[in-house]
Amino acid sequence: MTGRMKLTIVGCAGSFPGPDSPASCYLIEAPYEGETFRLVIDLGNGALGGLQRVIELRDINAVALSHLHADHCLDMCGFYVFRKYHPDGAFEPIPVFAPAGAGTYLSTAYGEGDGFGITEQFDFREWIEAEPLQIGPFTVTVFQVDHPVVAFAIKVSDGASTLVYSGDTGPTEVLARMVEGADVFLCEASFVESADNPPNLHLTGAEAGAYAARGDVGRLLITHIPAWTDRGEVMRDVKSTWGGFVELVTAGSVYDI
Ligand SMILES: [Zn+2]
Ligand SMILES: [Zn+2]
Repeated sequence: MTGRMKLTIVGCAGSFPGPDSPASCYLIEAPYEGETFRLVIDLGNGALGGLQRVIELRDINAVALSHLHADHCLDMCGFYVFRKYHPDGAFEPIPVFAPAGAGTYLSTAYGEGDGFGITEQFDFREWIEAEPLQIGPFTVTVFQVDHPVVAFAIKVSDGASTLVYSGDTGPTEVLARMVEGADVFLCEASFVESADNPPNLHLTGAEAGAYAARGDVGRLLITHIPAWTDRGEVMRDVKSTWGGFVELVTAGSVYDI
């Protein structure tokens, strides 16, 4: 059974934009109070362009940032320009759920001379781990995962179905607990098993598949594959630990969840 959430892969290139996709960005839509609620999860480099192929930027209701690496948040700078300097006039702030310090970080990224304007154009709210929070029709819960900066995996439920997004993470039991019974597990696989991978950074397809199997998830969607990586090898890694539904996502793909 699927609920009423619609997931659009806006960007799925790992670590930097690739020739076929922006960096990380996922749009989740669901009906809410007679309209469609649009939550953008991550807004990595290049994603703001891709988003405009799918929706009007002014229709975004909220943003959720898994962590403050450029490939997950840097297009917030462009989104700020859109919202502040639009010919129709500046838009009212929308909530941006993010790790602590996001406003300062993104203001610095935007550049000198603008003060902290980005913090006035968005309503930054710090993630609180393990505390379910209501964002429109979605119940959203985050747990900190294993990455060089503070990073969260994000669980989104509309009451009928559940999506778990790994964000960026090395192997962690946190993820194993989070994905239990999830309908869709959107998991990064930046590394391949054949390489000598550094710890506490990213997952391989085999590790993603193993979490999917332990959690008995409905569907496994693999994302965050860098442009320099052989996608066929990632798929072989996944299939070494997971026999269920799996796809390596591509920009523009849509899934009912
Ligand atoms: Zn990343
Ligand atoms: Zn990262």
